[in-house]
Amino acid sequence: MNRTLRTPEDLADAGLVSADAVEGLKQVAQKYATALPPVVLHQINSGNDRSALIRQFVPSVSELQTAPQELKDPIGDGTHSPVKGVVHRYPDRVLLMPTLVCPVYCRFCFRREAVGPDGGVLTENQLHDALDYIRRTPAIWEVILTGGDPLILSPRRISEILNALNEIPHVKILRVHTRVPIAAPERIDEDLVGALRATPKSVYVALHCNHAAELSDEARAAIARLAEAGISLLSQSVLLKGVNDSVETLEHLFRELVQLRVKPYYLHQLDLAPGTGHFRVSVERGQSLVKQLRGRLSGLAQPTYMLDIPGGAGKVPLTPNHIETDASGRFAVEAIDGSRSNYNPPRPT
Ligand SMILES: *Cc1c(COP(=O)(O)O)cnc(C)c1O
Ligand code: SF4
Repeated sequence: MNRTLRTPEDLADAGLVSADAVEGLKQVAQKYATALPPVVLHQINSGNDRSALIRQFVPSVSELQTAPQELKDPIGDGTHSPVKGVVHRYPDRVLLMPTLVCPVYCRFCFRREAVGPDGGVLTENQLHDALDYIRRTPAIWEVILTGGDPLILSPRRISEILNALNEIPHVKILRVHTRVPIAAPERIDEDLVGALRATPKSVYVALHCNHAAELSDEARAAIARLAEAGISLLSQSVLLKGVNDSVETLEHLFRELVQLRVKPYYLHQLDLAPGTGHFRVSVERGQSLVKQLRGRLSGLAQPTYMLDIPGGAGKVPLTPNHIETDASGRFAVEAIDGSRSNYNPPRPT
């Protein structure tokens, strides 16, 4: 099939859900968007790790179950938005969201109440106001294009935005958060790469990738085109039950990414978005996985395990603690194998 699957009927026709499931999934479809592009469908049909992809992208009636702790705006974007399309939580950097459309809709998406195919593309005026906010706020050193997926826009539109940002002297770093290299790798063409490399500012692309099975031949080639254009590549992953919550799966993912010249940046604790309970992994389990990875994997392949505090207080590391202090200020450190050592350096003079 060579088109994007969007409805429960499409999914049943493709054999991804049973005909009996269609009625229930229509209820899910009223709340949350679905998109399964051809390259992802092909990966599902050809690969070994079908369930890791199906769980991430094929809707399930479990999404209709919402826990009281789950929030429509889990990380408090709304409380830090000075103008439409901008979220300014930390002094030196802002999110700029030119569109809320994505090439694929992750079933655990933290912005699932906002994203969708007819979800906001900023109008000319709104984009103008958003850029104006950045222009008149000299503390902003970095602009993070996110959404939605900014690389779903046409290369011409992306160039317009990058050109406008180029003109702002205090903005030094441009970061793009995207899933396009995985879900629509054909979009990473000469025009798009040209638009990204045309800027004199430092450009980082942060790729959202949760399982090595997402890395189709096409995705790998798209990532290579970005790397060869001199764009620095990072990855962000979400820790997801039934997708990547094993040390072997995470190790394999991070090795593959480093081999593709992508530096694992963050491993996110799942945000409290509605209807995502079936993906939740406990913090204790997350910390245990991260601890095991430390012993198995090169430092190059270690992301930082992060929590975005519900409500909007920002991100903090959940990195397991390896050091304790006693009452007299002496340290005990725990090695990866569980052995303990004293660490009593001379006092700084
Ligand atoms: C996540 C986020 C950022 C980026 O945080 P880093 O730790 O720099 O990756 C910036 N602004 C907002 C509002 C965010 O949610
Ligand atoms: S790509 Fe990102 S914004 Fe889009 S659906 Fe997935 S998690 Fe949400």
